[in-house]
Amino acid sequence: MILKLIVFAIIGIFIYKLFGGQLPSLGKKAGTPKRKDAEGDTMVECSKCGTYVSVEETTLINGKYYCDECA
Ligand SMILES: [Zn+2]
Repeated sequence: MILKLIVFAIIGIFIYKLFGGQLPSLGKKAGTPKRKDAEGDTMVECSKCGTYVSVEETTLINGKYYCDECA
């Protein structure tokens, strides 16, 4: 009985991590990978809060840039 509960707990954690790891990576797919490029230093304005942030720290949604806090 206890062994079953442990197995179910491990499966639960595995599924949780699977979904927890997938959702953020989907959002970052549209962005640029963390790399030091010349274009990575371009500053863009967040469409929501108006803060200027490095383009590599933004998320592009429907052609608009959003900072990490607003994305
Ligand atoms: Zn913002």
